[in-house]
Amino acid sequence: MKIALIDVDSHNFPNLVLMKLSAWHKARGDEITLMSAEKALQEENLIFKYDKIYGACVFSGNEEVLRALELCGVHLGGTGTRYREILPYEVEHIMPDYSLYGISDTAYGFLTRGCPRGCSFCVVGSKEGRKSYKVADISEWWRGQENIKLLDPNLLACSEHLELLRQLAETGAYIDITQGLDARLLTEKNISLINELKIKALHFAWDNPRDKSVVAALKNFRKVSKIKNHRKLIVYVLCNYWSSREEDLYRVYWLRDNGFDPYLMVYDKKNAPKAITKMQRWVNNKRIFNVVKRFEDYDTRIG
Ligand code: SF4
Repeated sequence: MKIALIDVDSHNFPNLVLMKLSAWHKARGDEITLMSAEKALQEENLIFKYDKIYGACVFSGNEEVLRALELCGVHLGGTGTRYREILPYEVEHIMPDYSLYGISDTAYGFLTRGCPRGCSFCVVGSKEGRKSYKVADISEWWRGQENIKLLDPNLLACSEHLELLRQLAETGAYIDITQGLDARLLTEKNISLINELKIKALHFAWDNPRDKSVVAALKNFRKVSKIKNHRKLIVYVLCNYWSSREEDLYRVYWLRDNGFDPYLMVYDKKNAPKAITKMQRWVNNKRIFNVVKRFEDYDTRIG
Protein backbone atom coordinates (compact mmCIF):
# COMPACT_ATOMS: atom_id res chain seq x y z
CA MET A 1 0.00 0.00 0.00
CA LYS A 2 1.01 3.61 -0.48
CA ILE A 3 0.79 5.48 2.82
CA ALA A 4 1.03 9.26 3.37
CA LEU A 5 1.94 10.58 6.81
CA ILE A 6 1.21 14.25 7.43
CA ASP A 7 2.97 16.09 10.24
CA VAL A 8 0.60 18.99 10.86
CA ASP A 9 2.78 20.73 13.46
CA SER A 10 5.99 20.47 11.39
CA HIS A 11 8.09 21.86 14.25
CA ASN A 12 11.67 20.82 14.85
CA PHE A 13 10.36 17.88 16.79
CA PRO A 14 9.49 14.52 15.25
CA ASN A 15 5.98 13.17 15.68
CA LEU A 16 6.14 9.94 17.66
CA VAL A 17 2.79 8.57 16.44
CA LEU A 18 3.84 9.02 12.81
CA MET A 19 7.15 7.25 13.50
CA LYS A 20 5.23 4.32 15.02
CA LEU A 21 2.76 4.19 12.11
CA SER A 22 5.68 4.27 9.71
CA ALA A 23 7.39 1.34 11.49
CA TRP A 24 4.20 -0.70 11.50
CA HIS A 25 3.42 -0.11 7.82
CA LYS A 26 7.03 -0.61 6.69
CA ALA A 27 7.05 -3.98 8.47
CA ARG A 28 4.17 -4.91 6.13
CA GLY A 29 6.07 -3.77 3.07
CA ASP A 30 4.10 -0.57 2.58
CA GLU A 31 5.61 2.51 0.96
CA ILE A 32 5.73 5.61 3.20
CA THR A 33 5.73 9.30 2.27
CA LEU A 34 6.10 11.95 4.99
CA MET A 35 4.84 15.45 4.22
CA SER A 36 3.83 18.71 5.86
CA ALA A 37 0.20 19.85 5.95
CA GLU A 38 1.10 22.65 3.57
CA LYS A 39 2.50 20.23 1.01
CA ALA A 40 -0.47 17.88 1.43
CA LEU A 41 -2.94 20.67 0.76
CA GLN A 42 -1.06 21.68 -2.38
CA GLU A 43 -1.22 18.17 -3.84
CA GLU A 44 -3.94 17.62 -6.36
CA ASN A 45 -6.18 14.60 -5.81
CA LEU A 46 -4.32 13.61 -2.67
CA ILE A 47 -6.96 11.05 -1.74
CA PHE A 48 -6.47 9.13 -5.01
CA LYS A 49 -2.68 9.00 -4.78
CA TYR A 50 -2.49 7.05 -1.51
CA ASP A 51 -4.25 4.05 -0.04
CA LYS A 52 -4.23 5.58 3.40
CA ILE A 53 -3.44 9.08 4.67
CA TYR A 54 -2.78 9.79 8.35
CA GLY A 55 -2.39 13.27 9.83
CA ALA A 56 -1.03 13.88 13.33
CA CYS A 57 -1.25 17.14 15.23
CA VAL A 58 0.00 17.80 18.77
CA PHE A 59 -0.49 21.54 19.19
CA SER A 60 -3.76 23.46 19.17
CA GLY A 61 -4.38 26.45 16.88
CA ASN A 62 -4.38 24.49 13.60
CA GLU A 63 -8.17 24.22 13.27
CA GLU A 64 -8.39 25.67 9.75
CA VAL A 65 -5.69 23.38 8.36
CA LEU A 66 -7.24 20.37 10.10
CA ARG A 67 -10.65 21.12 8.58
CA ALA A 68 -9.09 21.35 5.12
CA LEU A 69 -7.21 18.06 5.59
CA GLU A 70 -10.34 16.34 6.82
CA LEU A 71 -12.12 17.40 3.63
CA CYS A 72 -9.30 15.75 1.68
CA GLY A 73 -10.01 12.44 3.43
CA VAL A 74 -7.12 12.52 5.91
CA HIS A 75 -7.46 10.31 8.99
CA LEU A 76 -6.58 12.72 11.84
CA GLY A 77 -5.43 12.20 15.41
CA GLY A 78 -3.45 13.81 18.23
CA THR A 79 -3.90 16.27 21.11
CA GLY A 80 -4.25 19.19 18.70
CA THR A 81 -7.32 17.63 17.05
CA ARG A 82 -10.81 16.86 18.34
CA TYR A 83 -10.15 13.15 17.96
CA ARG A 84 -9.12 11.06 20.96
CA GLU A 85 -8.27 7.81 19.20
CA ILE A 86 -5.62 5.59 20.71
CA LEU A 87 -3.26 3.50 18.64
CA PRO A 88 -3.79 -0.26 18.54
CA TYR A 89 -1.50 -2.06 21.03
CA GLU A 90 0.79 -3.48 18.33
CA VAL A 91 1.39 0.01 16.88
CA GLU A 92 1.71 1.80 20.23
CA HIS A 93 4.38 -0.61 21.42
CA ILE A 94 6.47 -0.88 18.27
CA MET A 95 10.04 0.45 17.93
CA PRO A 96 9.50 3.86 16.25
CA ASP A 97 10.89 4.34 12.75
CA TYR A 98 13.33 7.15 13.56
CA SER A 99 14.57 7.13 9.96
CA LEU A 100 11.26 8.75 8.97
CA TYR A 101 12.82 12.03 10.17
CA GLY A 102 16.40 11.01 9.38
CA ILE A 103 17.19 10.66 13.10
CA SER A 104 19.96 8.26 14.07
CA ASP A 105 21.34 9.48 17.39
CA THR A 106 18.22 10.13 19.52
CA ALA A 107 15.41 7.97 20.85
CA TYR A 108 12.01 9.44 21.78
CA GLY A 109 9.30 7.95 23.91
CA PHE A 110 7.22 7.49 27.02
CA LEU A 111 7.89 5.23 29.98
CA THR A 112 4.78 6.44 31.80
CA ARG A 113 1.51 8.16 30.92
CA GLY A 114 -1.04 10.07 32.96
CA CYS A 115 -0.80 12.49 35.85
CA PRO A 116 -2.69 12.75 39.14
CA ARG A 117 -2.46 16.55 39.43
CA GLY A 118 -5.36 17.61 37.22
CA CYS A 119 -4.10 21.17 36.56
CA SER A 120 -6.96 23.11 35.03
CA PHE A 121 -4.94 24.29 32.00
CA CYS A 122 -3.62 20.83 31.07
CA VAL A 123 -5.11 18.06 28.90
CA VAL A 124 -3.07 15.17 30.30
CA GLY A 125 -5.60 14.15 33.00
CA SER A 126 -8.54 13.95 30.61
CA LYS A 127 -6.48 12.37 27.83
CA GLU A 128 -4.39 9.85 29.72
CA GLY A 129 -6.00 9.57 33.14
CA ARG A 130 -5.55 11.00 36.66
CA LYS A 131 -2.87 8.50 37.61
CA SER A 132 0.69 8.05 36.44
CA TYR A 133 1.30 4.49 35.25
CA LYS A 134 4.13 2.62 33.53
CA VAL A 135 3.59 1.95 29.81
CA ALA A 136 6.97 0.70 28.60
CA ASP A 137 10.49 -0.33 29.44
CA ILE A 138 13.24 1.72 27.84
CA SER A 139 14.22 -1.21 25.58
CA GLU A 140 10.90 -0.80 23.77
CA TRP A 141 11.97 2.42 22.03
CA TRP A 142 15.73 2.77 22.68
CA ARG A 143 18.28 0.73 20.81
CA GLY A 144 21.60 2.23 21.83
CA GLN A 145 21.20 5.81 20.62
CA GLU A 146 23.44 8.41 22.23
CA ASN A 147 20.54 10.59 23.38
CA ILE A 148 17.15 9.91 24.92
CA LYS A 149 14.28 12.38 24.97
CA LEU A 150 11.72 11.34 27.54
CA LEU A 151 8.22 12.69 26.91
CA ASP A 152 6.47 11.56 30.13
CA PRO A 153 4.05 14.05 31.68
CA ASN A 154 4.82 13.15 35.31
CA LEU A 155 7.40 10.37 35.69
CA LEU A 156 7.93 10.92 39.43
CA ALA A 157 4.23 10.36 40.18
CA CYS A 158 4.49 6.76 38.92
CA SER A 159 4.92 4.15 41.66
CA GLU A 160 7.59 2.44 39.50
CA HIS A 161 9.61 5.57 38.79
CA LEU A 162 12.70 4.43 40.72
CA GLU A 163 13.01 1.33 38.54
CA LEU A 164 12.49 3.47 35.43
CA LEU A 165 15.12 5.99 36.52
CA ARG A 166 17.48 3.05 37.02
CA GLN A 167 16.75 1.86 33.47
CA LEU A 168 17.54 5.35 32.16
CA ALA A 169 20.82 5.44 34.13
CA GLU A 170 21.86 2.03 32.77
CA THR A 171 21.56 3.21 29.15
CA GLY A 172 24.54 5.55 29.62
CA ALA A 173 22.81 7.85 27.11
CA TYR A 174 22.38 11.60 27.51
CA ILE A 175 18.93 12.15 28.97
CA ASP A 176 16.59 15.05 28.29
CA ILE A 177 13.47 14.95 30.45
CA THR A 178 11.48 17.23 28.22
CA GLN A 179 8.05 17.61 29.81
CA GLY A 180 8.67 18.75 33.36
CA LEU A 181 9.71 16.74 36.37
CA ASP A 182 7.33 17.38 39.25
CA ALA A 183 9.66 19.11 41.73
CA ARG A 184 7.18 18.50 44.57
CA LEU A 185 7.76 14.75 44.21
CA LEU A 186 11.55 14.87 44.49
CA THR A 187 12.89 12.71 47.32
CA GLU A 188 16.32 11.74 48.56
CA LYS A 189 16.01 8.40 46.73
CA ASN A 190 14.93 9.69 43.33
CA ILE A 191 17.41 12.59 43.46
CA SER A 192 20.25 10.14 44.02
CA LEU A 193 19.12 8.21 40.92
CA ILE A 194 18.77 11.45 38.93
CA ASN A 195 22.36 12.16 39.98
CA GLU A 196 23.38 8.92 38.26
CA LEU A 197 21.91 10.01 34.91
CA LYS A 198 23.98 11.64 32.20
CA ILE A 199 21.86 14.76 31.95
CA LYS A 200 21.44 16.74 28.78
CA ALA A 201 18.56 18.76 30.26
CA LEU A 202 16.02 18.52 33.04
CA HIS A 203 12.80 20.45 32.77
CA PHE A 204 10.73 21.43 35.79
CA ALA A 205 7.59 23.57 35.95
CA TRP A 206 6.59 26.39 38.28
CA ASP A 207 3.08 27.01 37.08
CA ASN A 208 1.41 28.47 40.14
CA PRO A 209 3.35 31.43 41.57
CA ARG A 210 1.65 30.97 44.94
CA ASP A 211 2.80 27.37 45.31
CA LYS A 212 5.61 27.69 47.82
CA SER A 213 6.31 23.94 47.84
CA VAL A 214 7.85 24.24 44.36
CA VAL A 215 10.26 26.91 45.62
CA ALA A 216 11.38 24.77 48.54
CA ALA A 217 11.78 21.68 46.35
CA LEU A 218 13.80 23.51 43.70
CA LYS A 219 16.02 25.10 46.34
CA ASN A 220 16.75 21.72 47.87
CA PHE A 221 17.36 20.13 44.45
CA ARG A 222 19.91 22.81 43.60
CA LYS A 223 21.75 22.02 46.83
CA VAL A 224 21.97 18.25 46.37
CA SER A 225 22.03 17.90 42.60
CA LYS A 226 25.29 17.14 40.84
CA ILE A 227 24.24 19.30 37.90
CA LYS A 228 26.11 22.55 38.10
CA ASN A 229 25.29 24.08 34.74
CA HIS A 230 22.10 26.15 35.10
CA ARG A 231 21.41 25.79 31.36
CA LYS A 232 20.61 22.13 32.00
CA LEU A 233 18.03 23.03 34.65
CA ILE A 234 15.17 24.58 32.75
CA VAL A 235 11.99 25.63 34.53
CA TYR A 236 8.78 26.28 32.61
CA VAL A 237 6.95 29.35 33.91
CA LEU A 238 3.27 29.46 32.99
CA CYS A 239 1.95 32.95 32.36
CA ASN A 240 -1.20 34.57 30.94
CA TYR A 241 -3.30 32.10 32.93
CA TRP A 242 -3.65 33.07 36.60
CA SER A 243 -0.62 35.16 37.44
CA SER A 244 0.06 38.90 37.45
CA ARG A 245 2.98 40.45 35.62
CA GLU A 246 4.70 40.96 39.01
CA GLU A 247 4.31 37.26 39.77
CA ASP A 248 5.73 36.33 36.36
CA LEU A 249 8.75 38.56 36.83
CA TYR A 250 9.23 37.38 40.40
CA ARG A 251 9.47 33.76 39.23
CA VAL A 252 11.81 34.64 36.37
CA TYR A 253 14.21 36.57 38.63
CA TRP A 254 14.03 34.01 41.44
CA LEU A 255 14.87 31.16 39.08
CA ARG A 256 17.77 32.99 37.52
CA ASP A 257 19.13 34.04 40.91
CA ASN A 258 18.89 30.49 42.23
CA GLY A 259 20.69 28.71 39.41
CA PHE A 260 17.86 27.73 37.05
CA ASP A 261 17.06 28.71 33.50
CA PRO A 262 13.49 30.08 33.24
CA TYR A 263 11.43 29.41 30.11
CA LEU A 264 8.13 31.25 29.69
CA MET A 265 5.12 29.27 28.49
CA VAL A 266 2.32 31.59 27.38
CA TYR A 267 -1.19 30.25 27.78
CA ASP A 268 -3.47 31.12 24.83
CA LYS A 269 -0.59 32.87 23.10
CA LYS A 270 -2.74 33.99 20.17
CA ASN A 271 -4.78 36.26 22.44
CA ALA A 272 -2.09 37.16 24.95
CA PRO A 273 -1.36 40.84 25.70
CA LYS A 274 1.66 42.25 23.91
CA ALA A 275 3.48 42.81 27.21
CA ILE A 276 3.44 39.07 27.84
CA THR A 277 4.68 38.04 24.42
CA LYS A 278 7.40 40.67 24.81
CA MET A 279 8.38 39.19 28.16
CA GLN A 280 8.44 35.75 26.56
CA ARG A 281 10.79 36.97 23.85
CA TRP A 282 13.09 38.49 26.48
CA VAL A 283 13.23 35.39 28.69
CA ASN A 284 13.34 32.68 26.05
CA ASN A 285 15.87 34.30 23.77
CA LYS A 286 18.93 33.54 25.85
CA ARG A 287 21.19 35.82 23.86
CA ILE A 288 19.04 38.72 25.04
CA PHE A 289 18.22 37.37 28.49
CA ASN A 290 21.87 36.83 29.43
CA VAL A 291 22.79 40.40 28.54
CA VAL A 292 19.73 42.48 29.51
CA LYS A 293 19.21 41.65 33.16
CA ARG A 294 15.92 43.47 33.86
CA PHE A 295 12.75 43.26 31.80
CA GLU A 296 12.19 47.00 32.30
CA ASP A 297 15.44 47.69 30.42
CA TYR A 298 14.48 45.39 27.57
CA ASP A 299 11.03 46.93 27.45
CA THR A 300 12.43 50.46 27.29
CA ARG A 301 15.02 49.57 24.65
CA ILE A 302 12.51 48.11 22.25
CA GLY A 303 9.96 50.78 23.08
S1 SF4 B 1 1.45 18.39 36.75
FE1 SF4 B 1 1.97 18.77 34.61
S2 SF4 B 1 1.22 17.00 33.48
FE2 SF4 B 1 0.24 16.98 35.49
S3 SF4 B 1 -1.72 17.99 35.15
FE3 SF4 B 1 -0.27 19.54 35.89
S4 SF4 B 1 0.60 20.43 34.00
FE4 SF4 B 1 -0.41 18.51 33.42
